[in-house]
Amino acid sequence: MELKPSLSRQQTYKCLILGDSGVGKSTFLRRHATGQFRDEHVPTKGVQVYTLLLQTNYQDLALELWDVAGDERHGGLLNGYFFFAQCAIIMFDLNVARSAISVARWLHSLEQICGKQLPVVICGNKSELERMPLDLLYHQQGNLDYCEMSARVAWNLEAPLELLCRRLLQRNDLKLISQPTLRPIASCSCDEAEMRQHMEQVRQQILPEKSEETFSYKGGNFKDCIVLN
Ligand code: GDP
Repeated sequence: MELKPSLSRQQTYKCLILGDSGVGKSTFLRRHATGQFRDEHVPTKGVQVYTLLLQTNYQDLALELWDVAGDERHGGLLNGYFFFAQCAIIMFDLNVARSAISVARWLHSLEQICGKQLPVVICGNKSELERMPLDLLYHQQGNLDYCEMSARVAWNLEAPLELLCRRLLQRNDLKLISQPTLRPIASCSCDEAEMRQHMEQVRQQILPEKSEETFSYKGGNFKDCIVLN
C-alpha cells in the first residue's frame, strides 16, 4: 500500500483508529506506512494522520487514518476528532481483558457522535501471543465487523482495511489488490492456522437477532462489564 496524500476528497474516507493505549494502533499504522516494527511503546502525542492509498478490485480509494493520543480519548477532547469520521477501527489487545472490555465504551462514544450507521471493524491485535481466555460475542448487525491480526508477524494486517472498504463501497466481494509484503519480525513464530481458527470462532458467535448488544466480552472477573445499549 502506497502513501499518497493528494487524492480528491470524494475518494478519501476519514477513518478513526480507536482503542486503549498499548493495544498496537500506532504499530499497525507504522507497519502499513513504512513496513517497520518497533518493540517499544511510545504513546502517541496529539493526533497522527496517515493516508493510505488502497487499490481494490472495484476502484482505488484512500483512507485517512486518524490515530488519536491519550486517555482523554474518552472525554471531551476527543470529540472534536470524531467529527466527520466515515468509518473506524476499534482495536484491542487479545491478551489484555481490559482492552476488550473498553471496546464497548469506544463504540458507544463513537456512536453518540457519529451515529450507528458508521462502518466499524473491531480488531483484536497480537494474535501470535497466547490469548486471554476470551468469550467475545458480537452481533454482525448494521455495519459492525470483526477480525484479528498480528502487527508483529504481519498476519492479516489488511483485514480491517478490506472489511471497511467492503462496507464503504457496499461491495461484499471487494478485495484489496497489490498488498504489501511486510515481513514478520525476525525470531517471531506463529501458527497461522490456529490464529485463523480462533478468529473464525469469534466471528461465528453471533448474538440473537433481537439483542440490543452489538459487542460483548464475558470472561474472567469481568462477566457483567460489557452490555452495550
Ligand atoms: P498504541 O498505544 O495503541 O499506539 O500501541 P503501540 O503501537 O505503541 O504498541 C504498544 C506495544 O505493543 C509496543 O511495544 C509494540 O511493539 C507492541 N505490539 C504492537 N503490535 C504487536 C503485535 O502484533 N504483537 C506483539 N507481540 N506486540 C505488538
